Amino acid sequence: MAIIVQKFGGTSVANIERIKHVASLVKEEINRGNQVVVVVSAMSGKTNELVEWTNAVSDLTSHDSLKEYDSIVASGEQVTAGLLALTLQTNGLKARSWLGWQLGFKTDTTHSKARIEHIDRDAIISSLNDGYVAVIAGFQGITEENRIATLGRGGSDTSAVALAAALGAYQCDIYTDVDGIYTTDPRVVPKARRLNKIAYEEMLEMASLGAKVLQIRSVEMAMKHNVRVRVLSSFEPGEGTLLVDEEEVVERRLVTGVTYNRNEDQITLTGVPNTPGVAANIFAPLTEKEINVDMIVQNVSQSGDYTDITFTIPKADTKLAIEQLEAVKNNLGYNSLMVNENVAKVSVIGVGMRSHAGLAQKMFQTLADKSINILVITTSEIKISILIDEEYVELALRALHSAYGLDATKES
Ligand code: ADP
Ligand code: ASP
Ligand code: MG
Repeated sequence: MAIIVQKFGGTSVANIERIKHVASLVKEEINRGNQVVVVVSAMSGKTNELVEWTNAVSDLTSHDSLKEYDSIVASGEQVTAGLLALTLQTNGLKARSWLGWQLGFKTDTTHSKARIEHIDRDAIISSLNDGYVAVIAGFQGITEENRIATLGRGGSDTSAVALAAALGAYQCDIYTDVDGIYTTDPRVVPKARRLNKIAYEEMLEMASLGAKVLQIRSVEMAMKHNVRVRVLSSFEPGEGTLLVDEEEVVERRLVTGVTYNRNEDQITLTGVPNTPGVAANIFAPLTEKEINVDMIVQNVSQSGDYTDITFTIPKADTKLAIEQLEAVKNNLGYNSLMVNENVAKVSVIGVGMRSHAGLAQKMFQTLADKSINILVITTSEIKISILIDEEYVELALRALHSAYGLDATKES
């Protein structure tokens, strides 16, 4: 008997009607002769509501406050796990719900974005062997201090893939509200095209660069443990998209997808004395607070005495970053600190970039044709990212999608 992990996201368990439908999808899988482990998210909107409640009573800056945050926001999944197990029982199946701590889902102590360290597989295996469907609350685990920890937003994907890896499951099916991975967000670009297969590495870049259809860590984990992951819709039947090794993607293409991310701010320090070690001094106080710096450019003045440094960071960290940089202003000797909140990053991704020139030029020309100004550029082996004014994101996305020949035709 093969083990299949099925994960259902927030919209898939949004109400009792949807939960009943999910129960029917679980039953179909059992009828195919498989053992089924289900991972559920909270009902859609529930986690946001819980997060808002925590924000209403705390600024959540201390480690202790984040422990309470986790205990609160993890509760949404408890409700859906119980409701689904109950619905399955009503449908004549043996089923039970599990919370993270009941399964020995051990995490580190980075509350609100904890990493899974270990899963005790024995309890689930014996429950499966007793004929039960295991319905597991995603997004949560327990620390060595015996506190509930959550895995970061979208973390149920990671719970599911981690379980699939730990149990040696045949496949991990991630059910959501779109019928697979698209060349870009289908809610923004109607001409987006569904991909039958995508390489782990491309999906990792897409997720890191803004495609929130899968949490980044779930893709990292799938890649590391070679878990067969399929993304598909719980609303309509279909094959979905399979994550595979690069060699298995038969469809040849240079660019696989286009993504956007509106969650970063641009910070510029002007008039920084251009001396050795200056970049290290600027970024040290940010690293100290675990602030991830993304795109960086440095412009040295004509005389060479001064430099302007521009970089982007997650919006959630902007306040803290400003505090950190203002505290060392005298040391760094910069002139001014400017924040631009109205920026967005647009990226094109594809393993074909390794072997083909001219793809960056196409990006720059396409944006020039639309009179979109580029603020910052960064590249890696399989992606090119640019920072632009937020107001042009959708225009840029659509133009690039067409320019790289990704638009769906009527037949596709
Ligand atoms: P769930 O609640 O099931 O976890 P999410 O909202 O986290 O669902 O992820 C699904 C959403 O991801 C889709 O509704 C879609 O708008 C968005 N998305 C962004 N980029 C892509 C992409 N390239 N392909 C498919 N969906 C995408
Ligand atoms: N409910 C959590 C969230 O909204 C986890 C998840 O849905 O994956 O982020
Ligand atoms: Mg999600």
